[in-house]
Amino acid sequence: MIYMKKYDVIIIGAGPAGSSAAYMLARSKINVLVIDRYPFPRYKPCAGGLTVKTFKSFDFSISKEVKYSTNNVVASYKNKIFHNISGNKTLTKMVERKEFDNFLIKKAVDSGATFLDGTKVTEVVWKDGEFSVKTEEQFFQCNYLIGADGTNSIVNRTFNIVEKDLYGFAIEINCPLSKDNIGKFNMTFDFGTIPNGYLWIFPKDQYACIGAYTTNRKMKDIQKYLFDYIESLGLVPESKELKGHIIPYYGIYYKQPDFPCILVGDAAGFGEYCTGEGIYYAVKSGIIAAEVISSSIKSGIFEYRTLQRRYQKEIIRGLKLAYHIGKFFYSHLPLSFNLLMSYLLGGILYESASRGFTFDQSFSKIHVILSSLLLNKSHISNNKYYK
Ligand SMILES: Cc1cc2nc3c(=O)[nH]c(=O)nc-3n(C[C@H](O)[C@H](O)[C@H](O)COP(=O)(O)OP(=O)(O)OC[C@H]3O[C@@H](n4cnc5c(N)ncnc54)[C@H](O)[C@@H]3O)c2cc1C
Repeated sequence: MIYMKKYDVIIIGAGPAGSSAAYMLARSKINVLVIDRYPFPRYKPCAGGLTVKTFKSFDFSISKEVKYSTNNVVASYKNKIFHNISGNKTLTKMVERKEFDNFLIKKAVDSGATFLDGTKVTEVVWKDGEFSVKTEEQFFQCNYLIGADGTNSIVNRTFNIVEKDLYGFAIEINCPLSKDNIGKFNMTFDFGTIPNGYLWIFPKDQYACIGAYTTNRKMKDIQKYLFDYIESLGLVPESKELKGHIIPYYGIYYKQPDFPCILVGDAAGFGEYCTGEGIYYAVKSGIIAAEVISSSIKSGIFEYRTLQRRYQKEIIRGLKLAYHIGKFFYSHLPLSFNLLMSYLLGGILYESASRGFTFDQSFSKIHVILSSLLLNKSHISNNKYYK
């Protein structure tokens, strides 16, 4: 085992959470190393839908990474009743995660971070006020450790920061689009077919990512629902091999320990129950962790209470609300679908998403949303049709 170097901060994992933290730290001239087990660019099972709040979080342009951008959303019930809600504002931008993650880590490296890919972290140890991070052949030391290593986080397994018993899962496959099909599909969410979840269509440039999400981790036959859906759309998947991963919700119970190790993104359990969205919470938690570490390095004291307070206010509060709303929504279908697709609630949803509000902000800023709706500033239309 070769001792390599000591860093101020080591980040394990170069997904959106780790790269966002690394970018912010490197920009503050902090000596940071990011380690990822896979050589980059690497595949990541994800539909790559970036909500407005996600792409607003970056202080640089992501436009070259965007494969498709949309102002409208189609919500259907059992693939029979459809609502096309559209307006004049962007709702989502679609990226390809393999390229997007590579772009984000490159941003961090260009800002001064060191990146070691294709290197799995095998052990982390906290001793005498510093961390040792071991890989198969090397070991590093640091004062601050960020666990950005996804749901099976070695950092969380080592330090037991958050219990991992609350999650759903999602699977996906890409379907190539023929010349006739390009532009035919909208961003679509189909409810009522998958128990406690939905089927989705996320169009990209030359293909559509079609997937299934469920909050019910014991659900069987999810693959069959997905293949039937793809067939009903007249599409052919690029392979028979579906890729999937768990979606963690346990971050609503996150408690920051008083030693300088922070979990971010999926490692912290910051997945959103209603939709399975995780990239925003990964980026946001990465930024918060970096800001708290920068400030702690200046003050010489790990400001763990500030971290917990900020997580609570800026992430956990919204995730908790999403969890309760999601529980209600999925257990009261089709009533909840019909309510949500009413002109008023559909409009509130549109306004809130297009402004980049989190669930809790949608409530606290309801006056802003309602006044915009009353004046119809976004020119929202909600067209219902049947198939
Ligand atoms: C099918 C599917 C579709 C999804 N679609 C969307 C979507 O459209 N929009 C959205 O917002 N969210 C979506 N999500 C959720 C989103 O993908 C995650 O929330 C997001 O990737 C979390 O980012 P992260 O940086 O925390 O973790 P990750 O992106 O999982 O990155 C973790 C990194 O850690 C590395 N790592 C792990 N262990 C080690 C180790 N021991 N040593 C070194 N490196 C290690 C991994 O290689 C990986 O690169 C989807 C999830 C799934 C499963």
